[in-house]
Amino acid sequence: MNRLLLGSALLLATSPASATEVPPAVPAHSPVATGPKLVEPHLHIARSNLAGHARIAITFDACMGEADERILSTLVNERIPATIFVTARWLKRNPKAVAVFLQYPDLFELENHGEKHIPAIDKPVLVYGIPSAGSPDAVRQEVEGGAAAMVASGIPAPHWFRGSTAKYDLSAIGQIRAMGYRIAGYSVNGDGGSLLGAAVTEKRISSAKDGDVVISHINQPTHAAGEGVAKALVDLKAKGTEFVRLQDVADTGDDKTTD
Ligand SMILES: [Zn+2]
Repeated sequence: MNRLLLGSALLLATSPASATEVPPAVPAHSPVATGPKLVEPHLHIARSNLAGHARIAITFDACMGEADERILSTLVNERIPATIFVTARWLKRNPKAVAVFLQYPDLFELENHGEKHIPAIDKPVLVYGIPSAGSPDAVRQEVEGGAAAMVASGIPAPHWFRGSTAKYDLSAIGQIRAMGYRIAGYSVNGDGGSLLGAAVTEKRISSAKDGDVVISHINQPTHAAGEGVAKALVDLKAKGTEFVRLQDVADTGDDKTTD
């Protein structure tokens, strides 16, 4: 196998697996030989149970970076409600997009994606090469720091938390739940951490079913995936989809994330 093929194989092996945004070059090894048991919880919403009227929750992570106007303008122009998970880092860099979110409180529910975008795991471990918070105190700071930045930006206090990489250990889940949050898993990985192509992203999201919670990213305007997200939103609307935000419906999360 030549170097080019090896590189492609590595990319294929690593990029589409993750639901959340991770660096494209992921080290294959970890310095921690046996880390904590990690879970990546699922979340579903109550189904409509009406044929041709699927109820779907579209959720986005705004990890860091910029705002994807292709997606934001589609949500506004098509009047599609969505739940957006923001970090303190992203809020600081994107005041114009934040103003748009706040301008349409009927469309956008804003929730907590953390302060620094570090995995909410209370033991030291690398997730896709990203060091975890590593202690209960650091998990608390990640959650509280994200919420404080939201309130300082004029956003209502959040009720949902989704950590960087969407992976947790069970003790961190218990800690975050004790802080009053529900933890937002997902059921459809829409854009593979924003690394998928436009066509496959469109197909994945357009294929969402009644009761699904879709995760994608709204912070990568230069990635092809965002084009597919925007097209899928239009596809779903044309199919009669009922778009709901997490605050609008009953839900079921596994790993004790919502019960
Ligand atoms: Zn993220």
